[in-house]
Amino acid sequence: MTTGGPAVACWIMHVDLDAFFASVEELLNPALRGKPLVVGGRPEGRGVVSSASYAARAYGVRSAMPMAQALRLCPQAIVVPGRHQEYSRHSHAVMDILYEITPAVQQISIDEAFLDVTGCERLWGPPEAIGRLIQRRVREEQGLPISVGIAANRLVAKIACDAGKPQGLVLVPQGEEAAFLAPRPIETLWGVGQVTGRRLRALGIATIGDLAAWDEERAVRTLGERHGRGLWRRAQGLDDSPVQPGSERRSISQEQTFAHDVADRLFLERTMLRMSEAVAARLRRRGWVAQTVRIKLRDPDFVTQTRQETLAQPTDQPEAIYEAARRLLDAHWTAGRPLRLLGVGVDGLLDEAGYQLTLFERDDQRRIRLNQALDEIRDRFGDEAITRAALLRRQHRPEEPDPTEGV
Ligand SMILES: [Mg+2]
Repeated sequence: MTTGGPAVACWIMHVDLDAFFASVEELLNPALRGKPLVVGGRPEGRGVVSSASYAARAYGVRSAMPMAQALRLCPQAIVVPGRHQEYSRHSHAVMDILYEITPAVQQISIDEAFLDVTGCERLWGPPEAIGRLIQRRVREEQGLPISVGIAANRLVAKIACDAGKPQGLVLVPQGEEAAFLAPRPIETLWGVGQVTGRRLRALGIATIGDLAAWDEERAVRTLGERHGRGLWRRAQGLDDSPVQPGSERRSISQEQTFAHDVADRLFLERTMLRMSEAVAARLRRRGWVAQTVRIKLRDPDFVTQTRQETLAQPTDQPEAIYEAARRLLDAHWTAGRPLRLLGVGVDGLLDEAGYQLTLFERDDQRRIRLNQALDEIRDRFGDEAITRAALLRRQHRPEEPDPTEGV
């Protein structure tokens, strides 16, 4: 080892399938290829865009945008409802390819993962060759486009990947992290959501380089000890968060066995809402977000059915979990069918550090603050201390069976 140089060069890779759901739809129906294609819920159902092809993005259509707005921007867009089992199948196949490269894979959403490829050179060649290999295998074996970012750490690898989309491969040489980040909008940085972004812009910081040029102590004075120091370090291109393999495999769930079999839809919905609140509270306490929502239905004769839906955006919000659970109930439960047990769960759990608040829609900010306040009360008084208005509205219903908690 030469003295003075870096001890070990770390190589972190971020891979992200391009317009994933839309790309799978194009694969399944080649007639859609190159057309403005939007996957998501119907506008009349207040649906949102979960994925838009690049032809649709050219009109300004983006993920998480209300479908009605997407169709105003691009009236000729082809809207498809989404086939989550297909997406899930392709996602697993892509992740299997990644696990063949290295076990150090951290899946952070259905279409994204970090890999730590430090020390993989002997087996697979230099990092850039590994990136090309992944792109070629995903294209040839799954028929899907994927972008790759490679850098010394997760932060820079993720931003490099986004910078090269679609079908890009961007490698940031060691030592050039700060220079690579400098010209990019300040909102690109992890930890800069809309609120912090506005605040920084008011202070004259428009790019990451503007913040990097500040004195560290000034950042701390202006933005607070923890937040200020963290942002300032990231603006220098520094990030020592490790790739944590396997973090997508955790799950959180709640279920309830009813004292009497239940066939009352409103009662089932109310139970799901309460469970969604509890599951979301547990996610937030751990600082996680979930990618997948599932429900569990058990008949009086103990036949058990589990159905799941992949969310367009990872969430720790009870509304998003509840809405997905209700869609699953709509699809898999027929009115009048009695249930012995009902459960709501989430998996595909992600460390939220990799996500910016801009992932959430603007209106969600208020709910996030509300939910933080509710969490504090729950921590003090327990999960049952709080019942939300939406839940209370239904509590006047008479003749409801008295549920007992399942174990
Ligand atoms: Mg993607």
